[in-house]
Amino acid sequence: MCLICDRIDMINNGENPYFVKELETGYVVIGDNQHFYGYTLFLYKQHGKMTELFHLDLKERAKFLEEMTIVAEAVSRTFGAEKINYELLGMGDAHLHWHIFPRINGDIENYGNNGRGPVWWYPMEKMYSDDNRPNKKQLANMKQKLLDELEKLL
Ligand SMILES: [Zn+2]
Repeated sequence: MCLICDRIDMINNGENPYFVKELETGYVVIGDNQHFYGYTLFLYKQHGKMTELFHLDLKERAKFLEEMTIVAEAVSRTFGAEKINYELLGMGDAHLHWHIFPRINGDIENYGNNGRGPVWWYPMEKMYSDDNRPNKKQLANMKQKLLDELEKLL
């Protein structure tokens, strides 16, 4: 079973509290943990055998990348990033999904190369701590602000 497919099923059943917006190729969701404030994911609609960008035909690939970029711009505007980090990894679940991280100076403290480096140089137990899960009200606020920016860009 695939966690991303499970989350998409929840969206389709109206039961995913993190869901922000459906685009042509994927779904925009807020990340469960918000150490990197504004962390957002863009989940490709299909799974099956399409687990690499190069598995998508050119038109679909271009659309998926274009939409991901729009999501990234909306995340940047909404949450005030100094830099956006884009990750498409697939080692947990191979289902195509973008991690979009708004980055600001100091957000990995002194980890990594004197505080510089990718998000995964920050300790996993801190990144996924329950302490940085948004409450219902915070989540609703984040979703609304992101949705407003997305709709300006679409
Ligand atoms: Zn899947």
